[in-house]
Formats: sequence, structure tokens, C-alpha cells
Amino acid sequence: EFSRSAKLSGIGVSEIIRIGAEARKLAETHRDVISLSAGEPDFPTPDNVKLAGIGAILTNQTRYTALDGTAELKAAIRRKFRRENGLDYAGDEISVGAGAKQVLFNILMATLNPGDEVIVPSPCWTTYLDMIRLAGGTATVVPCSAETGFRLSPEQLAAALTPRTRWLLLNSPSNPTGAVYGAAHLAALAEVLRTAPRVGVVSDDIYEHVLYDSAPFATMAAICPDMKPRVVIVNGVSKAYSMTGWRVGYAAAAPDIIAAMAVVQSQSSSNPCSISQIAAIEALDGPQDIIAERRDAFRRRRDRIVAGLNTIPHVHCLLPDGAFYAFADMRGLLARPELKRKDMTDDAALCRYFLHECHVAAVPGFCFGGPGYLRLSYAASDKMIDEALERMKAGVERLL
Ligand code: PLP
Repeated sequence: EFSRSAKLSGIGVSEIIRIGAEARKLAETHRDVISLSAGEPDFPTPDNVKLAGIGAILTNQTRYTALDGTAELKAAIRRKFRRENGLDYAGDEISVGAGAKQVLFNILMATLNPGDEVIVPSPCWTTYLDMIRLAGGTATVVPCSAETGFRLSPEQLAAALTPRTRWLLLNSPSNPTGAVYGAAHLAALAEVLRTAPRVGVVSDDIYEHVLYDSAPFATMAAICPDMKPRVVIVNGVSKAYSMTGWRVGYAAAAPDIIAAMAVVQSQSSSNPCSISQIAAIEALDGPQDIIAERRDAFRRRRDRIVAGLNTIPHVHCLLPDGAFYAFADMRGLLARPELKRKDMTDDAALCRYFLHECHVAAVPGFCFGGPGYLRLSYAASDKMIDEALERMKAGVERLL
């Protein structure tokens, strides 16, 4: 009789992955399913990057590499930080793993003891909370409402700090809300953290390049140089260069944290894929035009989907500043007596309805700590976005 370890109690496969699988299963029998549930660009990996990967295979660069990234890739990452963020890191301050996800896991595994707390502004990426729990820590979830742009205020941060706080986990632009922390906001948060010298900051910058109106991108280590020694930046090539499947993410941090992360990686996955590392060097060092081109495409799609969502009765959606998700407020719709009579009382039920009756897959907000909302990824073509909106609108009208 197989039973799961206690470590896994209450932790399942990510809801986003589960819904993606359900949508794919439905698509086997219904060809018209539109999936707006995935968190990845729909663009292909750029050709120069693909060719670098092919070149790596043909030149037999297919063996184990240095544990947490080759010296060449670390050098390219250091150039990126200097060029784009004005940050100087040494070689022993960089770690490369199989995606930003693994890098985050390494950080938490390497630093958390039972009872250690991680402050997580919510709504947030579902994975953070499960990872913190797997690593033996406790998440201090701080709800941030639409009225404050889904951002953690300095007062909320001050109130959430305890002697057991180990990390503040920031994600800007945010998945799922698209909220962005500007330089002044980060400086105000840093001011609070100066009163708590034991607390570090994990800055998940993975959506750095999917940023629309609130330029330029700001990250705490660059805004507040005195904080840099206690900030860990997490970033990667997945979202910026449409390389989600290649699995390359990286961190920049003080050497002792990088060394501890290497221990976790050495006893789990070992080096990230050798071929992907060479492709990532090309992504970081090669032509960068693609970033602005794709961002402009995402901006157009954002405007399209948000405008469309706001024409659906009782649905409200703010214009997100970054990432590629619309986080639509369905609470007005869910409060309608017609829905209550049909027993459709929460975002999960609404998601099931949209998937099975309209063949549109979205992710319920409860997964991110935002019940009553739906997350719709607009990393999809205009045609798909329009068709999804039409079906959702018709679906809602049928319910009323
Ligand atoms: N951080 C956030 C906020 C994300 O949304 C994601 C992916 O969805 C990741 C990190 C992980 O990215 P990667 O593909 O590099 O593991």
C-alpha cells in the first residue's frame, strides 16, 4: 500500500498545470478548445537561439557541465545584469538552474528552517506557497487588494514582519495581477526592511521584459544599493525569449547563498541541460530586438482582451502594467441571483462552466489567493482572444 510522505501533505500538482491537462483532454474530443490558462509566450524561440542549440548538439556539447552553470553562461548573465540593470556581480554570485522555478526552490530549500516565515504579497503565483511549505517554512500571506493596485504597502510589510521572518518574496511584474512595483515603492519597502536586518528579499524578476507603461523596470538591488547584499534576484530566459521548454533560470546573490543553492542542486538535478545553456548564452548576448517586438504585441493583445472583458456583463478588469495575464474580477457576476440559483457561486465553478460549456480554459483566482477572479493569459493570437471573448460573453448572457 503506497502512501505519500508527510512532506507532500496538502501539496498537489499545480492547479495551473492540472487545468492545462484538463483542457488538453477536452481538446482530444473537441477541437475548438481555446486555452488561456498557460503561463508562456505563444511565440517560437528565436531562430538564432534555436541554431545555437543545434550547434551545441552537433559539436558534442552534450555532457555534464559545471554544477550550477558554465563559466561562459555565468559571464553572459553578468553582462546582462550590468547592461540592463546596472548591477555588478562576480562569477561566484551567479547560479543557474533548470528554470527560475528550480532556482527559487533551491533558495528556499537552502535557507529555510521550520518556523521560518516568508512574506508573500497575494494574489501571487501558486507555486510560491507550496514551495515554501515543501522547504519547511511558513508563508505569511498578505492580501493586497485591487484598490492598492495589488501591491504590498510599506505599512503592510511592517505589520507582517516578525522575529521569524526570513524573506520578503516580491514578484514584479506580477503573475497573476500584472502589478508592477516602481522605484519609489521599492525604496519605501526597503526603508521598512532597514529596521529588520535579518530579512532578505527574493526578487522574482522573470517578467522584467514584459512591462508596458511603467518604464523603466525597477528591481530593489539596483534601486537601493545598500540592500544588494541581502537581495536574491531570480530571473531566466523563459518569458523574455520564449524559451519555457529549454529550462534555464538563474539567480544573483551573495556568494554564501549561491554556494548553499549549489548543494541543493548537486543532490537533486545537477547541472541544467548543456544544450540549453549554450542557447541561453545566444539569447542573452545576441540581438535583443525581439524583446521590444514581442512586448508591443503583448501590449496590443492586453488592450484587446481587457477591453473585451469589460464588455461582458458584471465583469471588471483593470489594465495590467506587465506580464501577460488579465486578472478579471468576476465577483459582480458571481453575486447575481441567476448564478446563485444555478449553484455557480465561486470562481472554480465559473471556470468549469467556461471550460466545458464555452471551451475556454482560464485559471480560477482562488489558486492565486484571489477568489472571485479569473486569470486569462493573453499569450495567444488576436483571433483566439476574440473568439474566446465572444464565447465567454455569450456564455455569461446564457447564465443571466
Ligand atoms: N516566477 C513566476 C512568477 C512565474 O510565473 C514563472 C512561470 O510561470 C516562473 C517564475 C518560472 O519560470 P521558469 O520557466 O523559468 O521556471
